[in-house]
Amino acid sequence: MSITRQKAIESAIKHRENQASVTGQGCVRDYFGTNVFSDSQMKSRLPKAVYKALRKTMDEGVPLDFSVADFVASAMSQWAIERGATHYAHVFYPLTGLTAEKHDSFFSPDGKGGLIAEFSGKQLIQGEPDASSFPNGGIRATFEARGYTAWDVTSPAFLTEGRNGLTLCIPIAFCSWTGEALAKKVPLLRSMQALNKQAQRVLKLFGHEDPGMITASAGPEQEYFLIDRSFYYARPDLLSAGRTLFGTRPPKGQELEDQYFGSIPERVLDFMMEVDSELYKLGVPVKTRHNEVAPAQYEIAPVFESANLATDHQYLVMQTLQRVAPKYGLACLLHEKPFAGINGSGKHVNWSLAGQKVGNLLNPGETPHENMQFLVFCAAAVRAVNQHADMLRGAVAHAGNDHRLGANEAPPAIISVFLGEQLTEVFEQIASGGAKSSKKNGVLTVGVDTLPPLPKDATDRNRTSPFAFTGNRFEFRAVGSSQSIAGPLVVLNTIMAESLDYVASELEKAPRDKRKFSAAVQKLLQRIIRENSRVIFNGDNYSAEWREEAGRRGLPNAASTPEALEAMNSKQTYELFAKYGVLSRREAESRFEIYQEKYVKDVMIEARLCLSMARTMIFPSGVKYQQLLAQTAAALTTIGKTSCTTTLDEVNSLLARLQKAMMMLEDVVKMPEGLSHAKQCRYIVGTVIPVMNELRQVADALEHVCDDEIWPLPTYQEMLFIR
Ligand code: ADP
Ligand code: MG
Repeated sequence: MSITRQKAIESAIKHRENQASVTGQGCVRDYFGTNVFSDSQMKSRLPKAVYKALRKTMDEGVPLDFSVADFVASAMSQWAIERGATHYAHVFYPLTGLTAEKHDSFFSPDGKGGLIAEFSGKQLIQGEPDASSFPNGGIRATFEARGYTAWDVTSPAFLTEGRNGLTLCIPIAFCSWTGEALAKKVPLLRSMQALNKQAQRVLKLFGHEDPGMITASAGPEQEYFLIDRSFYYARPDLLSAGRTLFGTRPPKGQELEDQYFGSIPERVLDFMMEVDSELYKLGVPVKTRHNEVAPAQYEIAPVFESANLATDHQYLVMQTLQRVAPKYGLACLLHEKPFAGINGSGKHVNWSLAGQKVGNLLNPGETPHENMQFLVFCAAAVRAVNQHADMLRGAVAHAGNDHRLGANEAPPAIISVFLGEQLTEVFEQIASGGAKSSKKNGVLTVGVDTLPPLPKDATDRNRTSPFAFTGNRFEFRAVGSSQSIAGPLVVLNTIMAESLDYVASELEKAPRDKRKFSAAVQKLLQRIIRENSRVIFNGDNYSAEWREEAGRRGLPNAASTPEALEAMNSKQTYELFAKYGVLSRREAESRFEIYQEKYVKDVMIEARLCLSMARTMIFPSGVKYQQLLAQTAAALTTIGKTSCTTTLDEVNSLLARLQKAMMMLEDVVKMPEGLSHAKQCRYIVGTVIPVMNELRQVADALEHVCDDEIWPLPTYQEMLFIR
């Protein structure tokens, strides 16, 4: 038996034997948020006036004063130092990769042989990391590679625990000296502002004189795989690309669906419990944990929060999953498609907008008036998705996600909206009804009739749609499991802001008289639905019929990242981002460059890995097996027996094909010089990927017949089923 397999089996068994030593954490209430510099901490540690000023910044977006910042900095650092922290870090989310942080000590020499703790407001709200090595798409030349960072007051500071100490982490927004957003947080905050502004305009028309701040909320469901760590280390592809580049399907895949309904394996459950308690300490409200459809696949989801906080917490979820896994001898795979032929992982982003005074705006109400308002927000969302489907598609485009979207898996690359039968019918009635307030048969008049009850039950809804209305929110399911949710949320908020702007501008022209206003709303809804209903689809999104139907409806279908990015790279996109103050043209263009470059890098790393694994692991193993078979055949012939060479012939021909594919890949991984990013992308899609696919196909066929003792890579069978 291979040593790695032996090790994996040992650690799975050992974990079970060690069960007795695993202890619980006590009552959750006692430790939830203990590592967060929370509102109650601030309230008790700050002078009243300072606390009030800070709250004003948090709740109303008023700029933070330096004098206030000094108090906050001192209270925050005292709290952290009392807890045992020695360092602080400004944490931000660069445009590629997960997070970036630079640690600084609170302490400096006091000149008398001791130390003093120093942490001022200036260090809190403004730092100057040298960030020349972060991708910036040409925004700054390296010689002026300084950026500034500011604490995002709407996201609390927290402590991370290492084995040897604690670090105070301060979530920050990151800009260049000229004010351009260099990371993901600034545009997210700007998009939330834009949405708030436009939503308030609409609400005012519906009689809310002071609707208060409207926030976008997000509840991201994270899917992931867990495999034994020995396998992870034994697979260069998992280590460097996050997914297997080779591997035949196991005899038992996911056809029985017994994993989804089955109980969680003990080692995994212990892991999940530690992840949950670590996240509780950080104030992340994790709520559900369960098995997913594929073997070795699981899900974790917190309760939804404001989009900004949810984004920060989502990073912590991903980090914690990866940090805790090794303690249980496991590796957590966040890639969208770690195993071919087995379900991939997504991150469903549940999204809605709400205000403290007005509640959830995507919640159908009880009265005709509330229903009318709901229909307006819902229709605005449908319009946003139809008009800007290319931006939504672009926001989830990256190399990993290409194996889900556009491949034979859910959801497809065609962006459509699922509304459910009842709501679709309501919209159809409105569309066919005309603006008359007279009630025809089966025609719903907004402002007069109430909606039929809409199902809130999550069990029977369509799970194949990339963008589904699920009772009181939309669920964007095309987001990839490894991706930050910031980008998709920026697009969602921005396109919704644009749609609400359109609605408000139209309705502001209407008379205020109640009946006349309702008639105007009806007319507007009618127009919105007629113009945008092509994007509504309640059927099976995986079917070939839908692909054809979507083509007839003229819905875009960008199968690959380069296509999706290219479609988003338009004047319309840039103008939209600029109009709502989310991204300047320069910022948006630089992002486009960065994402193209990232795609090229990701796939080229895979291509080179593919080649080196084929040359140094797979081909030599095939030759060993070939030798074994040939020697046996020769020996049999020597003693006068006839030997059957069917397998040997098969291996011979596979090795010949493998060799040919390797040579071709060797050739095409040398990217021609001087190509633009766009041309590099096209080269990859048209030339590199097909050769990688051919190579994989042959290698997998070889694995299928090769001696298990000789095969150098952990197999799908063992990775997915040894727990
Ligand atoms: P399912 O797997 O059925 O989609 P889950 O319970 O796993 O459901 O996840 C649903 C997610 O949606 C949770 O994060 C939940 O907090 C979130 N959610 C619920 N209501 C809203 C809402 N109004 N706005 C945004 N997210 C919401
Ligand atoms: Mg879901």
